[in-house]
Amino acid sequence: MRKKIIAGNWKMNKTPSETVQLINELRPLVASEEVDVVFCVPAISLTKAIEAAQGSNIEIGAENMYYEESGAYTGEIAPNMLTDIGVKYVIIGHSERREYFAETDETVNKKVLKAFEHGITPIVCCGESLTQREQGVTIDWIRQQIKIAFLNVTSEQAKAAVIAYEPIWAIGTGKVATSEQAQEVCAAIRQCIKEIYDEATAEAIRIQYGGSVTADSASELFAQPDIDGGLVGGASLKPDFGKIVNYK
Ligand code: PEP
Repeated sequence: MRKKIIAGNWKMNKTPSETVQLINELRPLVASEEVDVVFCVPAISLTKAIEAAQGSNIEIGAENMYYEESGAYTGEIAPNMLTDIGVKYVIIGHSERREYFAETDETVNKKVLKAFEHGITPIVCCGESLTQREQGVTIDWIRQQIKIAFLNVTSEQAKAAVIAYEPIWAIGTGKVATSEQAQEVCAAIRQCIKEIYDEATAEAIRIQYGGSVTADSASELFAQPDIDGGLVGGASLKPDFGKIVNYK
């Protein structure tokens, strides 16, 4: 049985002080032993977030990371800077980073490998555009994203990874995928992992759905056999996130 994992993606929201306030407000609401709960917050707030989450079930994740160890990469964050302060997860290849910061499947792969090298669990994002869905190429596209993202990743590492299926047309739009649409793609992702590795890896890896998840849509989505939780943007900044975590 895979344990569900529900992660908030705060994007570029909340100052460090506001982060402490929001974590204090949310921590009693997201208390759960059944679900892994992760808050991915802006880099500048990570230290304060980790302090504020002490003694709770909340793990803190970063929203991005660079794939080099150190050096002349102005503005970037190295993996050992994250582990040094206790960061456990990192979102890799979110569609906003692909769209606005020129991330590619190849840079996603380098970051995934580097995260594993440092013992950070990557939340690897994939997803199709509306045009791709309308053209009927969704599954082919996602399979290609996954195959490149997991190049040279071992099966032991892949077992511990998290994949977030996030259709771009559903992110921040209020248009949540139907549970059938989300299940179909998450099942295809699991099949792709099985083809790359084996059944055991496919059964172990956790696959989230992300895209306009709310307290209303969470329970049906997360009840699907291949959906192991969610990556939640807008609703993770509100008390509603507690309802999403306790979706049952
Ligand atoms: C996201 O940013 O990963 C996301 C899913 O956003 P939202 O829930 O706001 O659509």
